[in-house]
Amino acid sequence: MSDDRHISRMQRKKDVVDERISRATEERGVLILLKGNGKGKSSSALGTLARALGHGQRCAVIQFIKGRRETGEYLFFRDQPNLDWHIMGQGFTWETQDRERDIEAAQSAWAVAKGLLENPDYHLIVLDEMSYMFKYGYLDPLPVVEALKQRPAHQNVIITGRTMATPLQEIADTISTVQDERHAFRGGVKAQAGIEY
Ligand code: ATP
Ligand code: MG
Repeated sequence: MSDDRHISRMQRKKDVVDERISRATEERGVLILLKGNGKGKSSSALGTLARALGHGQRCAVIQFIKGRRETGEYLFFRDQPNLDWHIMGQGFTWETQDRERDIEAAQSAWAVAKGLLENPDYHLIVLDEMSYMFKYGYLDPLPVVEALKQRPAHQNVIITGRTMATPLQEIADTISTVQDERHAFRGGVKAQAGIEY
């Protein structure tokens, strides 16, 4: 391609982008859903957490599935002064078969989340793996939708999980689906520190 053609092509692209930028004028918090079967949802949410903390914003993470406590992200982020990190009490894991206890744990985690969604001091709230709570019927999505709608205007919320409840999708501002094209686990590679946890 000649230099002239490249310049005029880039100029057209810039005009389109500038036009879009000039139209996006609203300033408010957003609800982001990260879903799908591929790897990268929780790690993306935690990347955004790093961004928000970098700007001095007060943040909170609630993990709705209790995995190992000593994950790399927990060990890294726990000393951040502007961050609260909650791991759901007894916690639903793939190993538990106690539905009653799981429901109790889900509800107490939701009570914490609800308090944060009412608190204007929090700029970013990550509700990690929350989607499973709806999938298994541990939480009703409607009160969650209500609380999200009523939250402080500047507050950003990220919810992760493989499947998302439809009522949440209806009110989300941004939805990204991480597609599973290949995963090392199926190639026989063991889960490793720094990559999986
Ligand atoms: P990550 O925390 O790595 O961003 P994720 O949040 O997108 O992953 P989850 O569904 O929460 O994915 O699963 C978490 C764990 O399962 C991680 O250890 C991840 O590597 C692994 N995992 C994610 N997707 C797949 C997959 N398609 N096949 C096998 N293991 C997967
Ligand atoms: Mg995850």
